[in-house]
Amino acid sequence: MNLTPFFETAVLALNRNKSAELGNRTQYIGSSDVSSCARKVYLQRKNPTTPSVSTLLKFSRGHIAETLIENIFEAGGVKHLFDTQVELRHPLYPLKAHVDFLFYADFDGTPELHVIEVKSVSGIPEEPYPQWEDQLAFQLGLLQFKYPDQKIGGSILAIDLNAGQVHQFNGYQHNDSNFNYLYCRALYLLDCLEEKEQARPTVTHLCSYCSYRTDCPAMTLPKVDLPPEIEALANKYAQLNVTKSKAEKEMKSIRQELVEFTGPVFKGRSNTVDLLVSYVEPTMIVDGSIVKKEYPDIYPGVLKERAGYTKLECKSVKTATA
Ligand code: SF4
Repeated sequence: MNLTPFFETAVLALNRNKSAELGNRTQYIGSSDVSSCARKVYLQRKNPTTPSVSTLLKFSRGHIAETLIENIFEAGGVKHLFDTQVELRHPLYPLKAHVDFLFYADFDGTPELHVIEVKSVSGIPEEPYPQWEDQLAFQLGLLQFKYPDQKIGGSILAIDLNAGQVHQFNGYQHNDSNFNYLYCRALYLLDCLEEKEQARPTVTHLCSYCSYRTDCPAMTLPKVDLPPEIEALANKYAQLNVTKSKAEKEMKSIRQELVEFTGPVFKGRSNTVDLLVSYVEPTMIVDGSIVKKEYPDIYPGVLKERAGYTKLECKSVKTATA
């Protein structure tokens, strides 16, 4: 049995089925579009391409994470409190959101509307990405249209399936000015689709998955002639960076296996290796975003300048194959 060719067609079919659940995306702007790059949104509609199997498999992690979370909620006995994939619509314009989980009450039964946006990640970030927050804010705004008199909140649930970690970024509430900004952006995207505005690129952490990256003006660099020795050094740096990234990835997964074996505290020497694992106690740090929000008068007084530095990036140029 050869699974490779089978996978190449079956993963495409899976992706088509999942996309079908969201309806015809050429007909509306969704909450993930609002937080996304306008050029990508425009080209996805006008010049759709099929992402590689590898990219589609990465996208599938999101669906797997949602199913897992749903199973966990069901196992916890709160199935009656929520709906999944709830469609929200703007009353006037073709603007929609598909909410991963909409809870109608807290776990103690207190009525409230709480949106949960699930994000499957490889490494939970310290802070939620702005695109995640914009996506959630747009969902909360559309929900407020539907339930104008109810208290509305939301959270982002980041889950790293490989590391077995989950983190809730909580405490989001509907905010009129946030939503108005995103609403204007959604109207701008509609104008782009109707060719009334130019769809400008916005660089985000998702550019690496973008199918329209090759000729993206935001990614285009001016042509230069480098001295051969400098070009060779830059290529060497790029190769070492790839090796370093691969090594870091491998170390992360090895670390996980080792710590599963040792537990949080371990000391020992085999014939060939010393193995030491220790637990570092949590420490308290000042959260700048809380100070900024809760103590806006104090915030400027606790800022200090961080020294600037020279950032170097070298990436090997991929040559197009005929
Ligand atoms: S590469 Fe980034 S900036 Fe360019 S179109 Fe894609 S998402 Fe937008």
